Order: sequence, then C-alpha cells, then structure tokens
Amino acid sequence: MRVVLLGPPGAGKGTQAQIIAGQLGVPAISTGDIFRANVSGKTELGQQAKSYMDAGDLVPDEITVAMVKDRLAEDDAKGGFLLDGFPRTIAQGEQLRGSLEDLGQHLDCVLELVVDEEELVRRLSGRRMLVDGEWVQRDDDKPETVRHRLEVYREQTAPLSGFYQSEGLLAQIDAIGSIEEVTGRAMAALERSRQSNDS
Ligand code: AMP
Repeated sequence: MRVVLLGPPGAGKGTQAQIIAGQLGVPAISTGDIFRANVSGKTELGQQAKSYMDAGDLVPDEITVAMVKDRLAEDDAKGGFLLDGFPRTIAQGEQLRGSLEDLGQHLDCVLELVVDEEELVRRLSGRRMLVDGEWVQRDDDKPETVRHRLEVYREQTAPLSGFYQSEGLLAQIDAIGSIEEVTGRAMAALERSRQSNDS
C-alpha cells in the first residue's frame, strides 16, 4: 500500500509510522528523520536544512521535494511506502502526485491523526529522544518553537486535509489513547480503504 500519514507535530506520527509500516511490510519514510540524519552527518543537505528546522519553519520545497522523489525511486519503496511528514504543503502534495504518476503509481490512503492543540503542546514540551544513551530535548521542541511549528502546521499543512478529502483518500483517526488503540484505529481505517478501493 502507498500511504501518507498526516497530522500535527506531537500527534504521534513517528511512532505510528514505524508500527503501521511494519504491519504493512513497507518502509516508513520520514522527511524529518532524513533531515535530522543529514544535520548530524553535517552533509550539505543538512546544512541547508538546519536553520529552517531550528526555527520551526518548513525546509523549502525545492530541497524537500527532490529529496523525497529520490527516496521514492529506491528499490525498497517500489512495492509501497508510508510517508511520515511529507507532504506538508499543497504544493508538495501536487508534486507528490506528479512524482507517483511518473512512476505509474498513486496513493491508496491518507491517514490523518487528529489531536487537539492543548494536548499537542503538552506532549511536545515533555517529549525527549535518546541520543548516545542520553535523553535530550529536540531543539525544535522548545516551547517558543513548538508554538511556531503548530502555527506553520495550521497555515501550511492543515489545508492538505481538504485536498485529500476531495480526492476521496482521507481517513481521519482519533489519535488520543494508547499507542495500541491508535494503531488499531489506523489499521481498521486502512482495511476499510483497501476494501473500498477493491470494490
Ligand atoms: P518532523 O520530524 O516531521 O517534525 O520534522 C522536523 C522538521 O523537519 C520540520 O519542522 C521541518 O523543518 C523539517 N521538515 C520535515 N518534513 C518536511 C517537509 N515535508 N517539508 C518541509 N520541511 C520539512
């Protein structure tokens, strides 16, 4: 299956992407992870992306779209994928549709994780990740940056919900609950979309 996971920062996209992709047997492709790996590896791409990421802004489409196009053309993505954190703008959504058309493919489902904003701020400010055996806060999880990232989401990414709704691809999932509950809702929605695509 070819799936996009949509949802605001803090909705649990990264966690769910890994689990759902594992259950579907497809690679989870996270643009945030690819950027972070490039920042730690001090690559040219990482240097280009870093200042935008630190400010909680989106990395420009020219950089992001080319990176995703290359990643989707890799062998392991030929049989399906789960995209986490891409697209994040309508322009990226249109580019994705074009890149898939070039490969003779199309999306099967867009899963949107829905969480209210108060809960997101609470989750993001408490979030830590393990780096070299130590729990650290992501630079872009600092409170002022979190608020800005949520604003960027509202303005630039949330309109993708309507974009995919009008394509008949959108499935909204309540993302409040245990990890297992949310995965269960996501898998049920994917199954419903598989059945309606088949019929
Ligand atoms: P994430 O891990 O998905 O929250 O992404 C972390 C940061 O990487 C974002 O705040 C952006 O700066 C950048 N980023 C990730 N995905 C994209 C994208 N599709 N378009 C632009 N910037 C992105």
